Amino acid sequence: MTDRYCVFGNPVAHSRSPAIHARFAAQCHQDLSYEALLAPLDGFSATAREFVAAGGKGANVTLPFKEEAFGLCTRRSARAERAGAVNTLDFTGSGIFGDNTDGAGLVRDIEVNLGFPLAGKRLLLLGAGGAARGVIAPILERQLAGLFIANRNGDKADALAGQFSDLATVDAGNFAKTAGRTFDVVINATSASLSGAALPLPAGIFAPGSLAYDMMYGKGETPFLALAREQGAAHLADGLGMLVEQAAEAFLVWRGVRPDGAPVLAALREQLAA
Ligand code: NDP
Repeated sequence: MTDRYCVFGNPVAHSRSPAIHARFAAQCHQDLSYEALLAPLDGFSATAREFVAAGGKGANVTLPFKEEAFGLCTRRSARAERAGAVNTLDFTGSGIFGDNTDGAGLVRDIEVNLGFPLAGKRLLLLGAGGAARGVIAPILERQLAGLFIANRNGDKADALAGQFSDLATVDAGNFAKTAGRTFDVVINATSASLSGAALPLPAGIFAPGSLAYDMMYGKGETPFLALAREQGAAHLADGLGMLVEQAAEAFLVWRGVRPDGAPVLAALREQLAA
């Protein structure tokens, strides 16, 4: 019998996850199906439970249900506990297991696909929402030279940094507080690019040879990457690789085998450019 998987979201029709997992399944010779399922805004848990009752083996969870998915789990990985959100559910054991693969996906995209090791780097993380919180612990594991979290609302950045103070000293504040500093990696985890808004970043924050990474992806350059290019960032990347690599990590959780993300990313990139 073909094993069933899905991604829950609202909206979800735009999701690229079915195409990604279809390619992973073919690459790894796994007999599975993967579909996008729209859950009502007030009915995520009921929809997930129906999927389990119908024999579903696992699921991804996207906006706006990652926090609710966290609450649905009977067991969670340490990285999901840290993130306070779950993007991967496994229904095959006793109860419901929850994981968060976003941070691992980001780190793998930067270090493996982009060939940019994070050890010893000064990293600026922009944003203090769910996406930012989800990646902090996996980033801190890479032995950075330092992490600064900057957010439009500086108090939220301070509070977020405080939640990770047992792992490392993390600087935080509003965007203006980064003035006078330089960074080797700047990651945009705000949703500003979604609305086409530019971030009010001080000039001079990009160190020579630095990487600017926007978690957002789509056709064309995001406002953040355009700004980074103007300000001299040497390497620019969008979040498509993170999307593919968090999916590869979820596939590993479900199937015990890790697909190679690189060829799938290349194929997706071609589709997006067409
Ligand atoms: P949240 O709604 O939880 O957080 C939004 C964040 O963006 C907050 O820090 C908010 O600041 C900031 N923000 C919003 N608008 C602006 C603006 N105009 N100027 C400055 N800051 C702004 O969203 P998420 O954290 O869940 O998602 C953030 C982004 O990450 C989205 O674009 C999402 O698509 C992307 N993402 C990509 C993934 C991938 O696989 N590539 C995975 C997960 C997320 P404030 O607190 O001041 O309001």
